[in-house]
This record gives sequence, C-alpha cells and structure tokens, in this order.
Amino acid sequence: MIRLKTAEQFRLMREAGKITGEALLKGGEAVKDGVSTKHIDDVVRSTIEKYGAIPSFLGYGGFPCSACVSINNQVIHGIPSPDTIIREGDIVKIDVGAIFRGFHGDSACTFPCGAISAEAQRLIDVTRESFYRGYETIKAASKTDMLEGRLRLGDVGHAVQTYAEANGFSVVRKFVGHGIGRDLHESPEVPNYGTPGRGQRLMPGMAIALEPMINAGGHEVEVLDDGWTVLTKDNSLSAHYEHTIAITDNGPELLTYIG
Ligand code: MG
Ligand code: MG
Repeated sequence: MIRLKTAEQFRLMREAGKITGEALLKGGEAVKDGVSTKHIDDVVRSTIEKYGAIPSFLGYGGFPCSACVSINNQVIHGIPSPDTIIREGDIVKIDVGAIFRGFHGDSACTFPCGAISAEAQRLIDVTRESFYRGYETIKAASKTDMLEGRLRLGDVGHAVQTYAEANGFSVVRKFVGHGIGRDLHESPEVPNYGTPGRGQRLMPGMAIALEPMINAGGHEVEVLDDGWTVLTKDNSLSAHYEHTIAITDNGPELLTYIG
C-alpha cells in the first residue's frame, strides 16, 4: 500500500532530507587517498547525530554501520571497515539515510578520489544525469496529468534507462528505488528501467527515492559472502546517484539536495 504524505509530513521530510544531504556531502568531502571507509562512516554518523537524527541504516536488517560505502566494482551496500582503504583513482559510492522526527531521508552519490580515469568520470556523469532525466520526466507532468493518472513509473524508469544505455552503460535490474516516509523502504518499488505508460501511477503526496545504479559493463550483479556487498558480475565499474523526491501539489521537489 502506498502511504501518501500530507503537507505537514512533507515539511518533516524536508528536515530529514536536509540532514541526510549534509551527511552525504560531509562524507564525500572526507574521500581522500589513504582514508578508510570506516572513517567515511564515522563522518556520516557524527553529522547525522549532530542534528539529533538517527542513521537509518544502522542496524537495518542487521547492517552494522551508518553509511554504505562501495568502491569501484562494488555497486551498493558496501560495509565500512577500518581495513578498507580508499586510493587515488577509486570511485566511491556513499549512501546515507537519516531519520528525524519520524521520517527518513535517503541519498547517495559517487565521489572520485583524486584523479580518476576519463571512463570513470563519464560513468559518474552519466549516472547523475540519468537520475535527472527521470526527475525531469516527473517535473514535466502537470498536476492534472498526475491526478488523471497519466504519469507512471514506467515513464520515469524509461527516461533513466534510455539515457544510460545510449551512453553505452547498463542499468542494474536486481535492485531498485522505493517509496519512503515513516519507513526507509515503502511501496512502490521504483525501477530504473521501464516501459512508457506502464507501471505504478504517480500522484501528489507520494515520496520516492529514485536511485539509478549504472554499470560500465553488463547489468548483472552478485552479492558477496558478507551478505551485503553487491558487486558487478563482470567486475566493471559501477556508479550510484540517489535523492529522496517529494511529489507535491506544485510538482516534484528534491528533499535531500543541498546546494
Ligand atoms: Mg540510499
Ligand atoms: Mg534508497
């Protein structure tokens, strides 16, 4: 069941989103040659807690940390460790969630460590832009379009997929975005691929996390023995970009974006 949010609930989600966005930004600023992924986690956690918020991921399904930090061919859900050291040339995905006054924010970004390859930079850029192709699809719909059920998740996923694939990359299918609110993961699922005119209809009051995971090689992924870390099956690079989006009466709003 999709839980629609009131204007007051969106106001609370804006607060959670800001904290999430700032924690992600601080985590990204900490990406440097020689730093451990646990250090990134510490920075994220202390930023979230500074605002009296709680890391959404800590303890979620048994996840031991506050941020997911995934390097290079790791797609998502990397577990921070003092033994995992970030090196110049790596691309580092940080995924952050924070709960504040009962509502979650969820956001992810891929950060370069120092100088990276041109291909890695292109992957990061295309992944980010693929998110915005999806977002712009929502933005282009009028309130009437939505109230009459003319905007569907298939339209959004199609926009993401088309852009990523036109650039020679592939879209991870096994993991998708999600509704968000009082729970970190709510209905509906938000795929980064799709067929126009198909799928869940979008309507004002919905909050979703749109989060393309784009691989430089094939779309297949597998999960490490640790039960969490998702890797590309062909060991190609992967990038991730995510924001929490409120679909308000006045159109979509990025809740986790901070200038
Ligand atoms: Mg996330
Ligand atoms: Mg998410």
